[in-house]
Amino acid sequence: MSIAGGIAKAAEKVVQMGANTMQVFSRNPRGSGYKNYSEQEIARFQEIRRENRFGPLLAHAPYTMNLASGKESVYEFACMAIREDIARMDALSIENIVFHPGSHTGIGTRAGIENIIAGLDQGMDGEEGIMVLLETMSGKGTEIGASFQELKAIRDGVKYPGRIGICLDTCHVFSAGYDIVKDLDGVLEEFDRILGLGLLRAVHLNDSQTPFGSRKDRHARIGKGTIGLDALLGVIKHPALQGLPFYLETPLEDEGHKQEILELREKLGNKNSAGA
Ligand code: FE
Ligand code: FE
Ligand code: ZN
Repeated sequence: MSIAGGIAKAAEKVVQMGANTMQVFSRNPRGSGYKNYSEQEIARFQEIRRENRFGPLLAHAPYTMNLASGKESVYEFACMAIREDIARMDALSIENIVFHPGSHTGIGTRAGIENIIAGLDQGMDGEEGIMVLLETMSGKGTEIGASFQELKAIRDGVKYPGRIGICLDTCHVFSAGYDIVKDLDGVLEEFDRILGLGLLRAVHLNDSQTPFGSRKDRHARIGKGTIGLDALLGVIKHPALQGLPFYLETPLEDEGHKQEILELREKLGNKNSAGA
């Protein structure tokens, strides 16, 4: 959901879409800037959330943020952005903020993970209400976080692991080699064994344009990719994932997302938290 028109406007659009939660970028996703909202706008945003009984909201950190980087300027920006955005999103009472762990770009996975841990430690004091979620990644290039073990290593290393959760992206895990089409039970069992299903706070519901295990990150519309509608419905309906918020990140605008949510709700006949 774009917040270019402000956060209250975004919440209004969510209601018009028939959704009851949303993912917003914590700042310009491809840059570094952000807007401060007026008190009036924030009050309106909170009112819309309350009146429409929104499920947990999710903020997404910018794509330009790489906490694993060994390059000083890149790393310093990432540390500043995660620290500021955790505080800014917490101040809005947003329940979760998700970020891409990062790409080590040559310094190696271990060193990249150390950087991520140090970055999180300087950005958190353990007192925040917001949960910080690590996103499961596809493993393109030198991306960290394509395996449950790497996500566990990050969480285990930080000072406040109790404030760290996981956001599962269906497109990314499928690309990373977790077969949610043929063996969803097995993937969730593995997740539970390594991380614990209790850490799962949010699901990014996306189809994929690329084959299983391709380690590419190309989202497709629901039912228009290599995962397919049945497998994605299986994810939403899985007993281990009940009560979680699902967020669409499919390549569509608001009208398309509205349609997609409508179709999914028809097929499911339920009231899961769904947003875009
Ligand atoms: Fe993401
Ligand atoms: Fe995602
Ligand atoms: Zn993606």
